[in-house]
Amino acid sequence: MRLDKYICESTPLTRSQAKKVISQGRVKSGDKVVRSCAYKASEDEVIYFDDNLISVRGLRYIMINKPQDYICSNVDEQLPSLFNLIDVEKKEQLFIAGRLDADTTGLALVTDDGKWSHKVTSPRNKCKKQYRVGLDAAITEEAIAQLKEGVQLNSEPQPCLPAEVEIISETEVLLTISEGKYHQVKRMFAAVGNLVIELHREQIGDIKLDVSLETGEWRYLTEAEVKSIG
Ligand code: URA
Repeated sequence: MRLDKYICESTPLTRSQAKKVISQGRVKSGDKVVRSCAYKASEDEVIYFDDNLISVRGLRYIMINKPQDYICSNVDEQLPSLFNLIDVEKKEQLFIAGRLDADTTGLALVTDDGKWSHKVTSPRNKCKKQYRVGLDAAITEEAIAQLKEGVQLNSEPQPCLPAEVEIISETEVLLTISEGKYHQVKRMFAAVGNLVIELHREQIGDIKLDVSLETGEWRYLTEAEVKSIG
């Protein structure tokens, strides 16, 4: 495959941006810089962009039922990486489309398709994420109204986009948001005077956490699930 197409298909870059980064010398095959957009990258070639390994071969899309105390990082730190839970080859090419906090459980998506991941996470794409939220105190009517209207978070220039709120019980709600700001759900509830004590992601776009997956288990997405992220 032509190198510019390869870069374009495996990162969020457009074709013209891909051409630019290639001519800037930011793309390598192995340890050699390649500046020709027409360069033909073979199946088993190892391509780096800005020293990050990328690949378009056999794009993979995986859902994991994330347990508590795993981190959404490619390497173990104080806590183990979520990638310890999946036994596939070339794990170093995979990354998480929409990170969760260490104490958040539920649906995590892992892929090596940069464009697809961008669709999941880009605020512009407004891909919905649904969370089941356990709260410290009973939710008030005022808080529900604020969440539905769009709460203002500390140190953010704009209020959040309006959220969908479905009440399960006084201290449990389903919250659907279409952004992915840092610690967004916890900060939204803090902003309305409550505290999140449990957080579980149920759904991303139309992709629901497969109830047959035990905590810590994973499976590949179906073609329909992959295509549902538009
Ligand atoms: N919002 C949070 O506060 N934490 C998460 O892990 C996900 C969304």
